[in-house]
Amino acid sequence: MSNDSIFKKIIEKKIPANIIYEDEIVTAFKDIKPKAPIHILVIPNILIASSNDINKKNKDILGHMFYVAVNIAKQKKINKEGYRIIVNCNKNAGQEINYLHMHLLGGKKLNAL
Ligand code: 5GP
Repeated sequence: MSNDSIFKKIIEKKIPANIIYEDEIVTAFKDIKPKAPIHILVIPNILIASSNDINKKNKDILGHMFYVAVNIAKQKKINKEGYRIIVNCNKNAGQEINYLHMHLLGGKKLNAL
């Protein structure tokens, strides 16, 4: 299985995942190896391999991903204490899955970058 197809299969419900939100543009689900009490991934429903592949045509999806991540933070009541939203791009950032995803991390004091 290529790296990108894991998330594609989660969207298609061919692989089980703890999906906490979905609409016609994005899907959000719990990270399988959480690095914080709240660790949720928000992904577009269409394949965008990395942030290098954001373009004029698909850029509005990113705004929606951010909006959904912040709404989940509010729903999980971590917005007042704070949270972190991360997008890793390629090997120097440690991007393992070649399918653009936003990490929403919170529920504890996170290490400074
Ligand atoms: P990256 O390092 O690419 O930014 O993050 C990929 C994330 O995807 C990691 O935090 C990893 O734990 C998560 N992940 C990898 N495979 C699966 C999976 O099959 N299901 C879920 N829910 N998360 C996964």
